[in-house]
Amino acid sequence: MAPPVAQPSRQALALRDEIEQSFPAALRTASSQLDLWYQQRQLDVGVFAKSDILLQNVSRLVASGRASARAEAEIDQYLRYVLSSFPQYRALFVVAESGEVVRWVGDEENLPEEMLIEIMNAGDSVDQVRWTRGRRVQVLSVPLLGERERPMGSLLALLRMSELDDVLSGLEIADSWRTHVVDPSDRVVSSTHREEIGRTRSTSLPAAIGGKQVSDYVDLEGVRVVGSHTAFGRFGWTLVLEVPYDEAFAPVVRSIGRIATIDLAIVLVLALVAFRVVASITRPIEALSEAALHISEGGDPAELPAEGRQDEVGILTRAFRTMRTSLAAKAEELEESRQQVEEANRALTDNNEELRRANEVLEQLSITDGLTRLHNHRYFQDQLAKEVRRADRTGAPLALVLADLDHFKRWNDELGHASGDQILRQVADAMADVVRDSDLLARYGGEEFAILAPATELDSAVALAERLRRAIAETDFSVEPAADGRQVSASFGVALFDGDSARLFSQADRALYAAKEGGRDCVVSAEELSEAR
Ligand code: GH3
Ligand code: MG
Ligand code: MG
Repeated sequence: MAPPVAQPSRQALALRDEIEQSFPAALRTASSQLDLWYQQRQLDVGVFAKSDILLQNVSRLVASGRASARAEAEIDQYLRYVLSSFPQYRALFVVAESGEVVRWVGDEENLPEEMLIEIMNAGDSVDQVRWTRGRRVQVLSVPLLGERERPMGSLLALLRMSELDDVLSGLEIADSWRTHVVDPSDRVVSSTHREEIGRTRSTSLPAAIGGKQVSDYVDLEGVRVVGSHTAFGRFGWTLVLEVPYDEAFAPVVRSIGRIATIDLAIVLVLALVAFRVVASITRPIEALSEAALHISEGGDPAELPAEGRQDEVGILTRAFRTMRTSLAAKAEELEESRQQVEEANRALTDNNEELRRANEVLEQLSITDGLTRLHNHRYFQDQLAKEVRRADRTGAPLALVLADLDHFKRWNDELGHASGDQILRQVADAMADVVRDSDLLARYGGEEFAILAPATELDSAVALAERLRRAIAETDFSVEPAADGRQVSASFGVALFDGDSARLFSQADRALYAAKEGGRDCVVSAEELSEAR
């Protein structure tokens, strides 16, 4: 009979093979996931930096060099909206070319100015991980371009590093596995094991490991581990994967015990069999054919004849056992690769879903006004162009209503900018309740709104403006009442498209002006104006 250790050592070798194959595969997965994560972040920040609201207001502040409370408030609003939609960022900075922080929002104050300038000048969109005051700081920077691509400064986004750690943890390679990211100065910048972050690891990465796929060594804690690593090009990082030695080989340690017991049982059975003539030829062959039938039906035979016999039956039994073992191993291999494929598919699906969601939010963000959540100026212009083309083609009427809040400066002056914002939000809500789904309501400027009403004649548009005016007049604004008892109101100008979209605007604008002249809180149509003349 074979000594009990022969089988486990074969199994140990197989396991070793498996480990040597799975490490590089897991490292490849980890590396591509990390890269994907950073790509997505670059995409995010690129879109943030192209926001009209941001660019217009930065240009107002930077170009004029004058303070503008309104521009600052609009930048802050936008940055806050972005932060609340994207947990991957800790803070956002708008930095002028000089390195001066124009505005910032988030939970990180006063980053050293030299550092900001250095990051901006580095030219890479994602900076390396820096350590300040014992914390990891990693910054994405994207230039802010004004008209004719004139550089005005940069948008800097501070990554929330715990999100990076979560990416590593989210890889779900296996429970006991550790994944570390080590920077060129041998410092751990991210890890599935948070206590590792910030430690120096050079001593625990033996030189020999480079040549081989996998090697075992003693880690910082004095634990023997099996590990492997690969370079992560983006920042000159090294990705390290480790698993405690005992756990890597746990299946072998367990099976040594089990096999020893089985072998002992076989010895006893053989001894018994030696004394029994019954165990002649027929029974084992019967058992073998039954077992073969069982296996062919996909089962696992509970009983096989003992393999100790030296005659033909013994040979047959041993051959049968070998066949059964290799069949089982093949089945296991098949199952494993099936699981791997399934897992990879799941990861891919999750990833795509996340990307799709982020892109949706980004898309929405770029056409939404941060304060009122109405559509913004840019979106309005895009839609206007489309509707004008349609009206040209079909000859259907197209009406434009412009609205401007009355004496809004006074409300701001009396109650403060925050209450002014509150009024703007409530006015937007009140108007949104009135317009039809087919109408397009947008915040056109500070306290100016525009409504584009397709398939609408002038008198219907005037009626719509009147309903909007009343809705505002009847709104209970949750701000202090004005000292002089006046109510929040708006004036409206209405015009109909006559084949020239620039004239549509100038006519609505003139009507609005006339409504202001006429005492405010009223609606004037372009038609009335031309009749009056
Ligand atoms: P009029 O009736 O003639 O329109 O008077 P007005 O005071 O409304 O005049 P004007 O249109 O020139 O002033 C608009 C004011 O609206 C100036 C600006 O401070 C304020 N404003 C613009 N955008 C915002 C904003 O987002 N929030 C707040 N609170 N105020 C804003
Ligand atoms: Mg105005
Ligand atoms: Mg106004």
